[in-house]
Amino acid sequence: MHEMALARDVLRKIEEEWSRVAGRGSRVKYVKVQLGESRFTHMEELKELLADISKGTIAEGAKVEFEISKVRSACADCGTEFKPGEKMNLNCEKCGSGNIQLTGGNELIIKAVK
Ligand SMILES: [Zn+2]
Repeated sequence: MHEMALARDVLRKIEEEWSRVAGRGSRVKYVKVQLGESRFTHMEELKELLADISKGTIAEGAKVEFEISKVRSACADCGTEFKPGEKMNLNCEKCGSGNIQLTGGNELIIKAVK
């Protein structure tokens, strides 16, 4: 299940970040996660799963806030940035090139842990 794998990734990142800033022994109270919108489909489900798998870890009971970053694309040929439509493999709006790179929407970054 997609959301479950993502929840595990988020938790692992929280634990990594927490051991870096606070070491062992204390618990996370608050987390802010920057998450690309292409990574998930059901935010509520993700939150529930994350709360569930956090039980017994340093992140148990932590308030988790998500900052969602939008999907963006850029043309590798002319550099034009645009928001892709429904289809991810559309051509450049400006020069028509099919050489498109995803430049946003795939983030998974722990922005803050307290
Ligand atoms: Zn272009």
